Amino acid sequence: MAGKTAHTPIRSCKSCRKKLAKNQLQRWVLENNEPVHDENQNMSARGAYVCSDDCYNNIKASLPRMLTRRRV
Ligand SMILES: [Zn+2]
Repeated sequence: MAGKTAHTPIRSCKSCRKKLAKNQLQRWVLENNEPVHDENQNMSARGAYVCSDDCYNNIKASLPRMLTRRRV
């Protein structure tokens, strides 16, 4: 495969809105109401992406609310 552009999904950081390739972001999911770092980005739970530890700290407090939207 010699393609120049690997097809990588782009996600934006939940804190600073910077857009980066998914694999350059940290994915966090909620497990039993606790934020868990989804290192392999393959957990089925709803996830939030951040670009850095700082950004994670910025959204940490609102993460549970962000990830537990009511389903109708
Ligand atoms: Zn960020």
